[in-house]
This record gives sequence, structure tokens and C-alpha cells, in this order.
Amino acid sequence: MKKQFLALFLLIILLMAYPVFAQTTVIRAGNLIDPATGTIAKNQIILVKDGKIAEVGPKVTIPAGAEVIDLSNAWVMPGLVDAHTHLTFNMKIHNISIEAIYLTESTAMRAFRGLRNAQDVLQAGFTTVRDVGNDANYAAIDLRDAINKGWFTGPTVLTSGKIITPFGGQSKRIPPEQGLFWLYEYIDADNKDEIRKAVRQNIYYGADLIKLVTDNSAFFYSVEEIRAAVDEAHAAGLPVSVHASGGEAARNVILGGADSIEHGFMLTDELLKLMKDKGTWLVSTDFPEAHIAALDPTGAMFGGPAKDMAAGIIDRLKRAHQIGVKLVFGTDTVADMPGKNRADMMLDYLAGWDAAGIPPADTLRAMITEAANLLKIEKTRGLIAPGFAADIIATPANPLDKIQSLRQVKFVMKNGKIVRNDKLAPM
Ligand SMILES: [Zn+2]
Repeated sequence: MKKQFLALFLLIILLMAYPVFAQTTVIRAGNLIDPATGTIAKNQIILVKDGKIAEVGPKVTIPAGAEVIDLSNAWVMPGLVDAHTHLTFNMKIHNISIEAIYLTESTAMRAFRGLRNAQDVLQAGFTTVRDVGNDANYAAIDLRDAINKGWFTGPTVLTSGKIITPFGGQSKRIPPEQGLFWLYEYIDADNKDEIRKAVRQNIYYGADLIKLVTDNSAFFYSVEEIRAAVDEAHAAGLPVSVHASGGEAARNVILGGADSIEHGFMLTDELLKLMKDKGTWLVSTDFPEAHIAALDPTGAMFGGPAKDMAAGIIDRLKRAHQIGVKLVFGTDTVADMPGKNRADMMLDYLAGWDAAGIPPADTLRAMITEAANLLKIEKTRGLIAPGFAADIIATPANPLDKIQSLRQVKFVMKNGKIVRNDKLAPM
């Protein structure tokens, strides 16, 4: 009898302690944004357990012992995504030769830079990034794995491994005496079989997606070559993203069934309509004028004066939106500008979406919902609903009124862990 009493007593103690063991957190969300629909639910309670969202609603019971976060004066939403980063890369500003970094930094150093940048962007509210190559010998894969092991707090990193290209990587006219040193960063693949092998190599080393650069030279991939990459990647469940500016190279990318075009600065209305018909996403990497001017003062890389290039890019974004192409926010921040970290630079891109006349709800959907769809994480991230990962951010003003409010993220939760919780002044 005495033994049974003791067992019951221990059970009660365990039940009382359960919320602590289960790491239960409750968020009181004054304004909860659904980025898929651009709607707001008032005064919601979000119950977070073991890194995931357990319950959401106006009348959720708050368990005893739960940590309660009061965001009743804030706008709460899922974490942001940048679908085009190069966290481990740092091109030299004013001297944008892409090769300089390959020859002067080890893969280990690149991984350290990636970690620093990953932590900066998480602080700003980017809880997921898709890193699209230029990471030396697969440094971003090690970065991803170190974060996933819990060694460091960082965003979810999905990464492509080495960039697959027709001969020459993204270098131009390297003297033959120097050899193929771009192979530190790229895989040359010049027919369907080589492309399939390159895709398999990246999958073998742990890639989450496949990245091709098709139009760095006068030669570019055919429809059949793009399709070979797509077939091989899709068979393994990986999406394919392709750097393409426009013209026939971009047409082949669309007809070959790639999941996304990256950049697409020269896309005509006809090609944008083809993208819409085929369901190709555009990751638009709309470089702000000030960034172009700082990175490429001579216009050698972008192909013209910063003002003209930036205006053309915004015009293309506006047309893509009007035509109804599926848009995903991605920045391609590849160099550090003085006085800004990568997150500051990424948030600078929001002004371009404003300038293109895109409603804030559509920009937010491109940063969360469409990005999750493209990254194939839509069943686990990008929504505040039961079963989803607790990647949650908050701002003191409504980003659906003014998208630039995202520059003031004050609260960040990643997989249920609070990584930032500034005091939010009452509104
Ligand atoms: Zn890029």
C-alpha cells in the first residue's frame, strides 16, 4: 500500500514537471499573420512544445510552468526565407574578380564566414536560407550539419553543393597555363551524361538542391541537358535552380523543367509568360542601385551603369508580378558592404519590391510561403499551425501595411528556441 502511494506521488511530481521537461513556451500574439493569405488573426495563443507548434487559437489552455512571451502589441509571423544566399562567399568590393577568393581562403575559413553570416541573418528574422553554391569544397554542407547537430544556433540551411556549369565555371578567359582552378567551386559538365554525374556527385556529398549556371559564356545548356539535370535531381527529390539572365538560355531552362530561374534580369514578357505557363519560379535577386554601385563601379559585371541596371531589374520584377509569375524573395548578397552585415544588405532589397509596386502581402508571401514551396519545406515550415516547426518572428509594426517593417524584427524563435527577444514598446 505504501509502495503504491509512493508511485502515485512520483507520478504527480512528474506530471507537474512535464511542461519544463517538454520545453513548453506560450506566445500571446496580438496580431498573427498568415503569409499565405495576407490575413491577420487577432489575439491568438501559440503553444510551442519540443521545437514545434502544438496548438494555435484564441482559447488555448496555458499549461502550468510554461514560459509565456507577451507579443500582444506585435505582429507575429513565420520566419523569413532568403532563397539565394552565398553565406561562405565574400567577393572583393570594387574589385569583383570572382577568382580572388578561391585562391586566398581555405574551405575551413569559408565555413567560419558562413557561420558568422548565418547567425547575423537569423538575428534579423531569416530562419531559413537556401545557399546556392560558391562554398569551396562543400563548406555550406558542413555549416548546415554543424547547425543541425546543435553545435551552433543558426537558420535552417539548404544548400546546393558545387555549381554545375558548361566548361569554365563563372570565370572568363583564364589563361590555359593556369589550369581549371575554378573546379574548387564548380563542376564542369558538358553533355547529358556529365551533367547526370555532376548531379549525383552533389547528392552524394549531401546537397539539398541542384544549382546550375547556364549562360556565363556564349555556349549554354540545351533543353535536353537541362532536362537531364532535372530528371536526375527530381528522382532524388531535389529541386533544380538555374542562374540565367534571359534569351534562349533562359528559354531552355524553362522548357527543360527547372524549378526556378535565378536572376532573370533580361527576361522578356514572352519568357515571363512561358514561366507562368510552366510554373517556373523566379528568384529575382533584385540588386539595389547602391549595392551595384559599390560592388561594380565600372559596370563590368552587371553590364552597365548602376542606375540603369537597377531600373531595368525593378522593371522586370514589376512585369513578372503583373504577368503572375510565382515570385520568391532571394538576394544574392555576395560581398560585404562597409557598415552593413549580410542581413542589413538582404533587407535593403525590400525597397526594390516597393519600387516595383508590389503589395506588401505579395512580398511577404514571396518571402515565406512561395519560398517554402520552392524549397520543398512547405509541410514543415512557413506556417504557424500545429505540427510545423516553431520558426516565429515578430515586428512592432504591421508589414502588411509597410513591408519595410521587416527591418525591425524584435523577436526571433528558431525551432522553439528564443534567439532574440527585444523589449517591444507598447504601440
Ligand atoms: Zn548567386
